[in-house]
Amino acid sequence: MSKVKSSETVKVVIRCRPLNRKEEAAAAGVTRTPGGEGGIVEMDVRLGQVVLRNPRAPPGEPRKTFTFDSVYDPSSKQRDLYDETVRPLIDSVLDGFNGTIFAYGQTGTGKTYTMQGAWLEPEKRGVIPNAFEHVFTQISRSAADRQYLVRASYLEIYREEIRDLLDPNVHAHPPRTLELRESPESGVYVRDLTACVCKSIKEIEEVMNVGNQARSVGATDMNKHSSRSHTLFLITVECSLPGPDGRQHIRVGRLNLVDLAGSERQAKTGVHGERLKEAAKINLSLSALGNVISALADRRSGHVPYRDSKLTRLLQDSLGGNAKTVMVATLGPAPQHYEETLTTLRYANRAKNIQNQPRVNEDPKDALLREFQREIARLRAQLNHRKGRGKHRKAEGEEGWDGEGDEEGEEEVEKERTLQEERLEEEKEAIREDGSLLVEEKQRLLGEKERMMGDLRKERDATEQLTAKYKAMESKLLVGGKNIMDHTNEQQKTLEIRRQEIAEQSRREREMQQQVMVQDEETLELRETFSSLQQEVEAKTKKLKKLYAKLQCVKAEIQDINDEHVRSRQELEQTQNQLTRELRFKYLIIENFIPLEEKNKIMNRLTFDPEEDQWKFTPLVPAESRFSQMKKRPASAVGYKRPISQYARVALAMGAHSRYRAENIMFLELDMTPPTTVSLDHWPSEAGPHCSPSPTDNGPYRQRAARVRMSRSWCQIPRAITSSTSTVSLATHSTATPTAAQ
Ligand code: ADP
Ligand code: MG
Repeated sequence: MSKVKSSETVKVVIRCRPLNRKEEAAAAGVTRTPGGEGGIVEMDVRLGQVVLRNPRAPPGEPRKTFTFDSVYDPSSKQRDLYDETVRPLIDSVLDGFNGTIFAYGQTGTGKTYTMQGAWLEPEKRGVIPNAFEHVFTQISRSAADRQYLVRASYLEIYREEIRDLLDPNVHAHPPRTLELRESPESGVYVRDLTACVCKSIKEIEEVMNVGNQARSVGATDMNKHSSRSHTLFLITVECSLPGPDGRQHIRVGRLNLVDLAGSERQAKTGVHGERLKEAAKINLSLSALGNVISALADRRSGHVPYRDSKLTRLLQDSLGGNAKTVMVATLGPAPQHYEETLTTLRYANRAKNIQNQPRVNEDPKDALLREFQREIARLRAQLNHRKGRGKHRKAEGEEGWDGEGDEEGEEEVEKERTLQEERLEEEKEAIREDGSLLVEEKQRLLGEKERMMGDLRKERDATEQLTAKYKAMESKLLVGGKNIMDHTNEQQKTLEIRRQEIAEQSRREREMQQQVMVQDEETLELRETFSSLQQEVEAKTKKLKKLYAKLQCVKAEIQDINDEHVRSRQELEQTQNQLTRELRFKYLIIENFIPLEEKNKIMNRLTFDPEEDQWKFTPLVPAESRFSQMKKRPASAVGYKRPISQYARVALAMGAHSRYRAENIMFLELDMTPPTTVSLDHWPSEAGPHCSPSPTDNGPYRQRAARVRMSRSWCQIPRAITSSTSTVSLATHSTATPTAAQ
């Protein structure tokens, strides 16, 4: 069940970073614009406007102006952005909405700074650490009848592959990549993604640290620690609270904190080889994101190409779906990045029009909190049962047990066990010292006591294990209202509320001013009345000039967009050329070095999986028949090691011919026939001189060789012994001197 909320647009805010040292040095010779401080970006924080100056444009050319929900100039603090833009979103997540914040912009403009910031300096902590603090503080302040379960996952999309940053084997070769799946219940999700249950800010920060160490970063000319992948930190907050019907309901809020890799131009970042391939992939998924934004913003287009990249599929709910979304577009003020800055502003401007339909996720089927609660209840029942048994035993021992509550009960049971152990020890001692008992009797009694002690110990261990498990499970659930009486907490809370109120007020003010501006332009002409023709001409000429300037602006815009298209097309062509070259290289190897039949065999087994966007090998044995094939054996082989024909079976039963003794060629039963000895003297001469010892041979050999023991399993006919090898080997075995062969 879910409550439907009216749709709302994606909130877009712009943040401009200060000039860095390199850019400042470059801008030192350039004339400074008022307020721009050597940069090309000017911001009107009160109106939420960004004005962009083209550094190569002639002096009279109008500047480009864009209006957003909020703008943050280079002097803005991390806290300003958080309080005004992010805080309301996190509050919604705690209420059971899905929320997404993503940072978008060119490399080195401050996306990672905005999302993460400098962890060790409280002033510079970014959105993610502040969100951690916010989530756990709000939970501790919430009503005591609420239970929370917080989970965190961390993934990156590197070269269009999803990697679990919390997986210890993330850098294994080949790397383990995860698959995207879609379900009507939870939308698009990543299968088998690690989720860590976190009980405190410290724990969730630890999770983030572990993931950050596994992230793919590499230096480019524009940013020493450039992010080479898109990363997504996912926090799931499940909350169980009593509903109006008196039953417990579960709300699940998912918060996606996304730090995108930069949209970069290959020439500017100075990347080659592997880095260039990375850049191609990064640009591809970012252009897919751009296409999705364009398709959503232009409401006439029906198809939204979410499936073009992993990134857009993961953000499917956040863009045009069930989520509240904030996009932070980051800019650099340096003149040399004018084109990129303009592109970022255009994307951001388009994203303002995306409509989302956020709703509270109530009682989803896959809520982990419900499972936790069930498991805790089961463990508690087991523990109570054990305690009950302890009580029962105690009653037998003529002592009462009326311990109330868990802790008390545990202590009572523990005390009782210690007592029992002591009693058994005493009894054992008494048996040992009792002289009237026989030794065997003593041993038996001592053994019995020992066994009883063992049982007692085993039971104690089992209870301890169960209690530890129960406590571990219970400690994972956070209960609201823990710090409500804390005085400093109260003050902090008031301060936060004030800050939020101020932020809300300035936001409303800005909205109103933006509306007034739009309305002014529209109504100006309606209110105009002219006293003379001359006045009318003047007014209309002024208006004409204004409109003409607007027209020029639009024309310039069209030109810009055209240029942008040409540029991106050229870049795509460049990437395509490179890929084609690589493809030719691989073809060359395949055509010349792989045998044709091998190639065909492989080709026939390959199929394309559109879900995962990959070629896959079909298994040699079809998956569905593999199981049944493994289970069933041919009827003819039942009871035998391999299939045997009917004829062979009959022949085997008859024992007629050794050829059909396929299954059992050795006779292992005892041979009870008396030894048969034959004298070699009586052998017919047809056996041939080469295989039997010559009659001229004499001495010990002759006698021994004559005592060849004949087994029934060879043959009954003595003549069969003519096999030269058997004779020789037997002869040599029976004599110490190997003379038979000579
Ligand atoms: P991105 O993630 O967009 O590639 P980074 O966040 O890594 O860029 O930022 C690049 C550099 O700029 C970092 O050294 C960072 O400290 C600095 N920086 C970015 N934004 C700001 C800001 N608003 N104030 C101060 N320094 C900033
Ligand atoms: Mg970054």
